[in-house]
Amino acid sequence: MTRLAAVIASRNGAEAERQARAALGNGADLVELRLDHIPNLNSGVVHKLAKAVGARAIATLRSPSQGGGALAAPSTRSSRLKEICRERFAYVDVEYETDFEWAETLADVAHRHRAQIIVSHHFAVATELSRVSDAIEKCGQTGDVAKVVVPVPDIEAAVGLTELARTASSHKRRVVVIGTGPPGMLTRALAASLGQEIQYASWDQPVDSGQFPLATAARIRNGDPILLGLLGHPIGHSISPAVHEAACAVLRLPAVYLALDVPPHALDALLDAAPRLHLRGFNVTIPYKETIVEKLDELDADAERIGAVNTVVIEDGWTKGHNTDGHGFRLSLRSLGLRLGDRRVLVIGAGGAAKAVVDVCLREGARVEVANRTTARAEALADAFRNAVDVIPMDDLAGSGPWDLLVNATPAWTNGFGADVSISAAVVARASFIYDMGYNPPNTPLLQTAQRLRRPGTSGLDMLLHQAAAAFELWTGHPAPFDAMRRAATEALR
Ligand code: NAP
Repeated sequence: MTRLAAVIASRNGAEAERQARAALGNGADLVELRLDHIPNLNSGVVHKLAKAVGARAIATLRSPSQGGGALAAPSTRSSRLKEICRERFAYVDVEYETDFEWAETLADVAHRHRAQIIVSHHFAVATELSRVSDAIEKCGQTGDVAKVVVPVPDIEAAVGLTELARTASSHKRRVVVIGTGPPGMLTRALAASLGQEIQYASWDQPVDSGQFPLATAARIRNGDPILLGLLGHPIGHSISPAVHEAACAVLRLPAVYLALDVPPHALDALLDAAPRLHLRGFNVTIPYKETIVEKLDELDADAERIGAVNTVVIEDGWTKGHNTDGHGFRLSLRSLGLRLGDRRVLVIGAGGAAKAVVDVCLREGARVEVANRTTARAEALADAFRNAVDVIPMDDLAGSGPWDLLVNATPAWTNGFGADVSISAAVVARASFIYDMGYNPPNTPLLQTAQRLRRPGTSGLDMLLHQAAAAFELWTGHPAPFDAMRRAATEALR
């Protein structure tokens, strides 16, 4: 069974001991004591830590060349490692490259003192899988456990690494294979189901990029987790991971929600791998809400009618697309007290989100006009609806209207995106209510213009929360803890 290790990277021995005891009392099976983070490390400190928590500790004196603290000269490090091996630790971490010459000697000493040896290798940069595989092999020759850590640049590389880890542990190897960086979180999320020896989690601050906090890692420690995520490109602006993490934490679900930043060329590979990755489902965001439609096995009535999907549920490999954006938009209108019957609405944008908004507006009896950076796409959107939808070129907006509601359904002004459309103050002045579906930053430039013109408006945060709650319920079958999700969203946007 995968053991859960909280990484303690404190700068003094007493504090490391305090944190280690706290982590062990809060669900960790082990602690990894990052001794290279203690500037004045000496035999006394090592002995005291070994006595206090050594039976449940991995002692690691990471060298600078392998990403450790630049504390000890190489000669000091090797003699300190020998001392560490003579103490009573559950595991001692030695490095395949740095400790190559004396790794076997260290292993002999450690085994005599009933410690197990983890032989590790940390690649500084992303590398091909065959080199990772070689490193596992070499680390496993001396180590009781082989640990290989490698940065993964994208989700395709992360999927490849999970397959490699699965193969390695199926050969009865005791291994830890970790991909670092956001895409590498896939290898951490699946640690238990891949049969990894140890799952490293953060206690205070993450030591490696992508490390889960101990509480998250503890939730998913047994067997196959419920793997959820957000599929899009780019997705740095999204707060969905924070919102769904809060929901999973409140309900203590063995689930984790990952940011799956998938460039277009890797979309099919991820969908193919989804069942092997135990993906239960995912949200879909820009730019895939429409393109994903034809790649799914089934659509629900909303997704079919709108022609866009923002939520996919996977059961036994069968993918079903849903659209909870419309639901989120409708509920947010209700809570704002906005009724659209017979009203005039301008939607800017012609992608998946715009389609959901147009669908709601038409069903509520509104008259809808659409403008978009690419006018031809707005025309295609209009053609897709049975009711009349008028298309207005962006440049003609100032002479059009007035509108009861103006909805921005583009990522213009969202963090991480540029604005290739301009919505002038003259256009904003012709709308009674401004709805910017963007929410990051919360007070968007469009809303600021509305405020200057004393026009009421809202960001897309409420819509985001309602669509997220509906998606969460589709995946998990549990009522969504809406207040916790809202708190997490507010915190993430601070
Ligand atoms: P999409 O299907 O890729 O469509 C993007 C739309 O925005 C297209 O009309 C595109 O115009 C336009 N666009 C893209 N980049 C632009 C830029 N830099 N400046 C001006 N226009 C630009 O994406 P989507 O899924 O509809 O999402 C659109 C936005 O709505 C995203 O920011 C998304 O985060 C947000 N959204 C928010 C919520 C919420 O709950 N608050 C829900 C759904 C979506 P072209 O046709 O010319 O490419």
